[in-house]
Amino acid sequence: MEGKKERCTAVILAGGCGGRMKSSVAKQYLSLGGKPILWYSLQAVQESRVIDDCILVTGEADREFARRQIVEPYQFTKVRHIIAGGTRRCWSVANALAFLEREQAAGEECRKEGYVFIHDSARPFLTEEILRRTYEGVKAYHACVAAMPSKDTVKLADANGFAASTPQRDQVWIIQTPQVFERTLITEAYRRLSKQYAVGSETPVTDDAGVVERYTDTAVKLVEGSYRNMKITTPEDLEVAEAFLKHVPGAEILAETLKHNGADS
Ligand code: C5P
Repeated sequence: MEGKKERCTAVILAGGCGGRMKSSVAKQYLSLGGKPILWYSLQAVQESRVIDDCILVTGEADREFARRQIVEPYQFTKVRHIIAGGTRRCWSVANALAFLEREQAAGEECRKEGYVFIHDSARPFLTEEILRRTYEGVKAYHACVAAMPSKDTVKLADANGFAASTPQRDQVWIIQTPQVFERTLITEAYRRLSKQYAVGSETPVTDDAGVVERYTDTAVKLVEGSYRNMKITTPEDLEVAEAFLKHVPGAEILAETLKHNGADS
């Protein structure tokens, strides 16, 4: 990392109930490779040389559980606070940003500048490379999100379920997290969202970049994420994630070498 390092705060979102998982346990607490899904994002943050500290957002009723079962036993010391989320993802983010503002106003956090890395705990395969690329991205462009080119053709549908139009595939990107912003920029964007929509109500935004696009003039840069940086939403995603865990790094290279040497014939 070149030059002066800005303060980087991760906001790890684990405030959802994961209705599409069809499980009585919220998906971030389900087991993946013997550990709760939430563990993986916290571990990436804990080990990161980019991230300085972390705010964990959980459901109000889960704060103690997350502290006792995950944060304390695994010694995630970068988690400074566990705060309660809101009724929707955007209100969970708004709560975290308001918390950071209050903290600063109280003089506990002296520097207003710095970056906020907003990450869904439902994406367990966060890596240091992605954190590093998005850090470079936010330094250069003020706002960036991890993203990957779509492998599939995407269609916009009309209200009756008919294909209405087909965007050029090379312009379609699949958006991931982390979504990373200058703290002042994202705080102002969310302040404007809260002005337009009652806190807790339904909004049209589904990600943080969408809030910045809607309420500010800052263009959000797309930065290379990873096809492995998947979101666990439905039960079959968990099967894919388990398969990823079994993947031995370098296996493809070994297979290629064996093929080259005629060992597979
Ligand atoms: O439901 P979905 O997969 O889109 O949620 C994305 C992330 O946002 C998850 O990590 C989830 O825990 C979090 N979330 C939240 N507060 C909510 C809803 C979702 O922190 N009210």
